Amino acid sequence: MSVGGLKALLEDCTQCGLCREVCIVERLGAQSITSFLCGNSDYSSWLCSSCLRCQEVCPQDVDIHAIMMEKRREEEPPAGYRGNMANVLRSGYALVIDDGVNEMRRVHGLEAVELVPGEWVEALLTQPREQEKGA
Ligand code: SF4
Ligand code: SF4
Repeated sequence: MSVGGLKALLEDCTQCGLCREVCIVERLGAQSITSFLCGNSDYSSWLCSSCLRCQEVCPQDVDIHAIMMEKRREEEPPAGYRGNMANVLRSGYALVIDDGVNEMRRVHGLEAVELVPGEWVEALLTQPREQEKGA
């Protein structure tokens, strides 16, 4: 989306601050997209629990989720996120599943996690794109 698109998405925002009030990220002391919406330049569009409370409470029906996605295209994700993405591509899990994880599960009486075959991960990640191309 163009900057004009982002501008249009922001058009109805009155900076009332309600979205910021209900945001869990803000309550935990960090700055989410809701800080940006309230005119604060110190924020990260990547800090979000996807609860969408901000969107629900907005009296102006601003598409905060679309704004967040737009800003993510501009902003580098935190280093940890990149690591999680790499793990997903490698194993299908966001977190590394290693002996330590399985030992913890064993202590709690849970079965060990078995990684899915790499080709399954690849199929899951590529098939929707193939379908989109064909649509
Ligand atoms: S609740 Fe809606 S109008 Fe109010 S600051 Fe947030 S996005 Fe803007
Ligand atoms: S969706 Fe994200 S930005 Fe909105 S209230 Fe929830 S945590 Fe905050």
